[in-house]
Amino acid sequence: MNKGKPAADQLQQHLQQLNNAFTLRMQQELPALGQHAERLLQTVELHEQLQHLQTVRDQLHKLAGGAGTFGFSRLGQRARELEQQAEHWLAILQQEQQSLQDFSRSLQQLATQALQPDPEQASLPPPAALGKASECARRIYILEDQYAIGENMRLTLNNFGYQAEHFTRIAELDNALQQQLPDALIVDVNLPDETLTGLEYAASVQQRLDEPLPLLVTSTQGNFDTHLEAVRVGALGFFTKPVDIPQLENRLERCFAQQQGEPYRVLVIDDDRELANRFSLILRGANMRVEMLHEPANIFSHMRDFNPEVVLLDVNMPGCTGPELAQIIRMNDDWLRVPIIYLSAETDINRQLSALIKAGDDFVTKPISDNALVATVFSRAQRARLLSNALSRDSLTGLLKHADIKEQAAVELERAQRSGKPASVGMLDIDFFKKVNDNHGHAAGDNVIRALANLLRQRLRRIDSLGRYGGEEFLVVLPDCTAEQALRVLDEIRLRFAELTFIAGGSEFSVTLSAGIASTETPSTDASELLDKADQALYAAKNGGRNQVR
Ligand code: GH3
Ligand code: MG
Ligand code: MG
Repeated sequence: MNKGKPAADQLQQHLQQLNNAFTLRMQQELPALGQHAERLLQTVELHEQLQHLQTVRDQLHKLAGGAGTFGFSRLGQRARELEQQAEHWLAILQQEQQSLQDFSRSLQQLATQALQPDPEQASLPPPAALGKASECARRIYILEDQYAIGENMRLTLNNFGYQAEHFTRIAELDNALQQQLPDALIVDVNLPDETLTGLEYAASVQQRLDEPLPLLVTSTQGNFDTHLEAVRVGALGFFTKPVDIPQLENRLERCFAQQQGEPYRVLVIDDDRELANRFSLILRGANMRVEMLHEPANIFSHMRDFNPEVVLLDVNMPGCTGPELAQIIRMNDDWLRVPIIYLSAETDINRQLSALIKAGDDFVTKPISDNALVATVFSRAQRARLLSNALSRDSLTGLLKHADIKEQAAVELERAQRSGKPASVGMLDIDFFKKVNDNHGHAAGDNVIRALANLLRQRLRRIDSLGRYGGEEFLVVLPDCTAEQALRVLDEIRLRFAELTFIAGGSEFSVTLSAGIASTETPSTDASELLDKADQALYAAKNGGRNQVR
């Protein structure tokens, strides 16, 4: 066996080989870069300039990354500087191209417009006036040329509580978009009767908007190129036909949850108050909640009370260094999922690395640009929250797990006892669910469970809590809600659920549910008594013939 020194020698040899290969590559690539520069000097065409610049930028980027690693630091640094300049010029040219295209499009519109006098000032009624349900319902536009498929999607999404509209032609959708923007757009890729594909059309829509619409894509083929094109027009989901609509609904829900999420919580720890203040200002400006800590000894109360999602930590502090404080944080399992980012004026790379090895997840070096700071913190916070949700929530439905929803019931019962306002709990159970599994398979069963979870999320209020109590059993906790109100809400959910159509193995089926309600209007000593009452009511509903709320 080769051990110790021989292995190290081998490694050295390998590295040397890699260095040689890199040098050889440079001998070819540098002249190529020169040629692009030459062509860039010669062309006056915007389009061609853009192309050369992009190539140059990409090559500089590779060079900047590689040269430093292989021992050509000065070359690498210069390449980095030039890459940044190329980036700068690219942005300017792209903007110019975009403005010119916008202008041309407006010109086209003007030229093709039929000559018509202005219509009377007939204003459309605002859709919010239509009723309470549509007031908060999310508007979804569906572009699907196959009528039956699109209609099925529309009806199912409406059952979930959305306000979906279906269009078979681009022109119709375009018209609707002029009137009102939806909260999300679903487009089919293949539209044989149109000159554009769904993705090309979606791209043109996104370009017109200041902020892109959440976009989901459906397609008969799920190949890589179509996925790539979808990503490039900003799609957040891709579904191959036949589309699993509950799954699509799940994805919609996730898009919206990300949009309207609570601000991220960031704890800034720096003994330099001015600097800490500056960081806080910048992060608050990017809609984050920030607390500052100047005294490391107060770390515990800050972690507990503020419950940060990211910690920004100075490396050099008197009394206790950043890495030491990071290790203290890491000793507590409750805070394991909180990313720690070091902030330091430290230029000694070895000390940075040794800090990371002790504890901590990332490093940013002061001075840092405002944008870089926001981007670093944002991406870490986003990922931390996603992970944290994944851990505390049931993976199939995204609802609270058994213990957490029970805890929530206890909290609300106590609150109700204190405030004198009634609270209700509802226990829901899917009827004959075993048969769904037996007849259509376990995956189809999972789909039904997810659909009910999504329906509950859609139909209940933000202050309500939802949990998956057991396999196909759900618990909802409704604060400030009488038994009578709870009955109305759950009965409506029961009806909607029965209307959903599921597809599995080519056959369609529907499922019903039963539910039992208990409220604090009849006093209970504790949460388990309240839950028992709901369970008894559910049992009565099952015995009474199922598909009902008691
Ligand atoms: P009832 O109307 O009396 O509620 O009849 P039921 O068949 O729904 O009730 P039962 O409690 O006998 O069966 C529940 C079934 O749910 C048994 C179990 O295999 C299934 N189940 C539990 N969890 C899951 C799950 O996560 N996915 C799927 N597909 N099935 C599950
Ligand atoms: Mg059941
Ligand atoms: Mg059951």
